[in-house]
Amino acid sequence: MKITMIGSGYVGLVTGACFAEWGHQVTCVDKDVHKITRLQQGEIPIYEPGLDVLVATNAERRRLKFTTDLPSAVADADAVFIAVGTPARHNDGDADLTFVYSAAKEVAVAIRGYTVIVTKSTVPVGTGDTVERIVARERPDAEFAVVSNPEFLREGSAIDDFLKPDRVVLGTDDDRAASVMQLIYQVLEETPSRIVVTKRRTAELIKYAANAFLATKITFINEMADLCEAVGADVQDLAVGVGLDHRIGMPFFNAGPGYGGSCFPKDTTALLRTAQDYGVPLRLVEETVGANNARKRRMALKVIEAAGGSIDGLTVAVLGLTFKPDTDDMREAPSIPLIEALQRSGATIRAHDPQGMRHAMSLLSEVAFCGDVYSCCEGADVVVLMTEWETYRHLDFGRLRKAVRVPTLVDLRNIYNRDVAERHGFSLTGIGRAHST
Ligand code: NAD
Repeated sequence: MKITMIGSGYVGLVTGACFAEWGHQVTCVDKDVHKITRLQQGEIPIYEPGLDVLVATNAERRRLKFTTDLPSAVADADAVFIAVGTPARHNDGDADLTFVYSAAKEVAVAIRGYTVIVTKSTVPVGTGDTVERIVARERPDAEFAVVSNPEFLREGSAIDDFLKPDRVVLGTDDDRAASVMQLIYQVLEETPSRIVVTKRRTAELIKYAANAFLATKITFINEMADLCEAVGADVQDLAVGVGLDHRIGMPFFNAGPGYGGSCFPKDTTALLRTAQDYGVPLRLVEETVGANNARKRRMALKVIEAAGGSIDGLTVAVLGLTFKPDTDDMREAPSIPLIEALQRSGATIRAHDPQGMRHAMSLLSEVAFCGDVYSCCEGADVVVLMTEWETYRHLDFGRLRKAVRVPTLVDLRNIYNRDVAERHGFSLTGIGRAHST
């Protein structure tokens, strides 16, 4: 199939490269000239494990191209996927669909012959109807169908998630469009992946419902962690004891500093706006959003307590800035409110992240960004472990002890046990652990 991706960001680029890997002819389009120039030169503008090899291999096989020329990339396509950003609107938190609608207009003008237009971006219920109206208005003569195909990949394991999905959701009532989509995903027929074909509105809502459920699951274990601290129980053991029930499950059941990232925060608030528009209260999701926002802000208090009640004039070393490991994405990372709150309380911040520092530099001010963990911890009064990058799982505590001024570790990902830390002279504060300070 001939496929065009509109938007070559985390989703568009991974999706395009994976479709090419399945043998389709793919053109990735982006408005960002710098991004496309880098891609044409074989550089990958984002950090996603394995993406460099996948892109290089498929570009070499001449199955994957990059361009800023949308009209020519769309003209001969069987399917055009819109994978542009849908950030939260500043005024009300609803999804900002400006990029989707302007992409739809540009696509409408350029299509030739029957074309399936697919919304890959996460879009509120009814967006497919609007895209359909836009295309019909721009091109009353066009033969097309609009399909919803939400994406569930996770940054950091995006390629595996895309190539071996739990499920693919296709939202359409149009048989011809459904056949095109089935051909695109044909390789999955031989695999355990399920293809769910449903109405377009249901498909649009599935994406939000899935993210809201996962956000709620994380918030649930975070609240249990708080209770564990109060009653002297251990949330790590609790999560195993509860999560081994297959109806509940272990994934996404780790207590931490609150969820962040480019999806959960914006998708949960957009879902709430949809629910309000239709007069249907979603109280669980409302509570999840509120509890998570409060939690992210509260994490600074945990650090201040661990430092003895005041952080004024002290130096804090923050290990990990991205919202999760194996990505350079800093959108809505819990490290941002934590660092800002500590700075407001008078702390000096030193920070390290294996991939996130380039983006972090534009989001945070007066932070000393350091090239490695141990120089980051030089002279620190508190070390805060913020993101569970693999490299932070193997800290050399001997070296760390020599680097810091005061051996206090706040481990917001529960990587280390008290015994290990204490053996090296560190006091440890975790999340929801028995005897947490
Ligand atoms: P992104 O910001 O990384 O990429 C979007 C790209 O679209 C940018 O490069 C931008 O320049 C480009 N663009 C915008 N308008 C354009 C136009 N008219 N023509 C060509 N290019 C245009 O965003 P992302 O993280 O890839 O997310 C895209 C969508 O996928 C969002 O709706 C998001 O919610 C959803 N999603 C994201 C993830 C994730 O993990 N990032 C996972 C699932 C779904």
